[in-house]
Amino acid sequence: MQSYKMFIGGEWVEAVGGERFESLNPFTGKAWATIPRGKPADVDRAVAAAKAGFRTGPWPKLTATERGHLLRRLGDLIAEHAEQLARTEVTDNGKLINEMAFQLKYIPQWYYYFGGLADKVQGAVIPIDKPQTFNFTRQEALGVCVGITAWNSPLLLLAYKLAPALAAGNTFVAKPSEFTSASTLEFAKLVDKAGFPPGVFNVVTGFGGEIGDALISHADVAKVAFTGSEATGRRIGELAARSFKKVTLELGGKSPHIVFDDAEIDNAVKGVISGIFAATGQTCIAGSRLLVHRSIHDQFVERVVAFAGRAKKGDPLLASTQVGPVTTPPQYRKILDYIDVAKGEGATCVLGGGPAAGPDVGEGGYFVEPTIFTGVHNRMRIAQEEVFGPVLACIPFEDDEEAIAIANDTTFGLAAGFWTQDIRRILRVSERLQAGTVWVNTYRVISYLSPLGGYKHSGIGRENGLDSIQNYLQTKSIMIGT
Ligand code: NAD
Repeated sequence: MQSYKMFIGGEWVEAVGGERFESLNPFTGKAWATIPRGKPADVDRAVAAAKAGFRTGPWPKLTATERGHLLRRLGDLIAEHAEQLARTEVTDNGKLINEMAFQLKYIPQWYYYFGGLADKVQGAVIPIDKPQTFNFTRQEALGVCVGITAWNSPLLLLAYKLAPALAAGNTFVAKPSEFTSASTLEFAKLVDKAGFPPGVFNVVTGFGGEIGDALISHADVAKVAFTGSEATGRRIGELAARSFKKVTLELGGKSPHIVFDDAEIDNAVKGVISGIFAATGQTCIAGSRLLVHRSIHDQFVERVVAFAGRAKKGDPLLASTQVGPVTTPPQYRKILDYIDVAKGEGATCVLGGGPAAGPDVGEGGYFVEPTIFTGVHNRMRIAQEEVFGPVLACIPFEDDEEAIAIANDTTFGLAAGFWTQDIRRILRVSERLQAGTVWVNTYRVISYLSPLGGYKHSGIGRENGLDSIQNYLQTKSIMIGT
């Protein structure tokens, strides 16, 4: 059994009171690591260390260029340790090793890119309309930033937040999900090795319900960047507003994936499959509603069902596995409950529809069959609520107007995708879809260079891309009279 400690002020420490909890391997259902169960007193320690790191010691004295060098060194270390980080995350959250290898090829880019941006942050000289007055602006770091992440992609979601925060000169307290803390703690070893001064990066582990409020309400925290569910995002938004903290919220989705009658069918089938079944459906951007033009609906769904039905389930550490377990026992039960809800609502289950069994999936793992429903109406719960699992709801449509109306008929607005070869339709439909990211003839492409975030209940703010460093800066206007 692996035993981890928290990382606070450059030291590896136990929680105050010494309590620990177990982290489960979703493939076996057995505990494989123990993690310190942080308390509000640990939050105080971590925030104090981050505050001290921000104000004193080497960090505030570094030039922006030197901060950039450190971030790039961290990127190199992630690349060197990619295999070990990948294995840790797979063991902890059940994502496929191929998916993790792909993610870890890209995660260093966040540290390279924002490391490169560190010394390009500039103020402005403003030709103010007052005589004899010189006005200029400075872009200043906020102070202590908190990053709270979901269990589906701990290292990637952390990179979205940490890389720009440190590039801007802040210090950081990370709170990974209680279901998947191990990879963030492995990552902290690399931050330490890269030579970041003590207190610049800290990790507090524990249960969101026990330490979340302490983190968000802490008087010395300037900013909270959160990725997780709509319900937790709402609570964090409300709590942060009380002390006027800045927030970035990346929440859930119910993303439509539209296939028009002129789509290239082979590509669209692959896109739809990866859109919903990658990471066993546990991605915020999952294309969980498949909208297909009625003239091709039956043949298209048949192709998707055949493709998904052939997927090989099994050990996520094996490169040949195409469907891994879902990450947590509560998530497993939630997905199965939603499958029952869909059946109860009158949808037709044409693939899967329950727990997966058989020699490849072992005995204790949390496996759900890739599941596809037809005969879905967009007002059904299966079409409105985020399942966060391998469950696809298929809905036919008659024309473009109806497709757009159904696509937008959701409180979420994280992502949308569509397949067509008509450029006028591409321009028209992409303009009208209410989603932070729209993919056309592709799906699931994410880059450190491109903004990611939600319309409507899918969140507040954007992560990634040039502008996202502004999430971690504030502008001071200085006026000098003569
Ligand atoms: P969750 O909201 O249950 O937990 C997310 C994090 O919040 C965890 O670290 C948890 O410990 C913490 N938390 C829980 N209660 C808290 C509280 N009261 N105060 C502060 N922190 C608290 O979400 P989850 O189940 O871990 O993740 C799944 C959700 O994340 C899905 O809704 C998914 O769509 C969303 N997600 C969004 C994105 C995106 O970029 N928009 C990416 C990945 C996941």
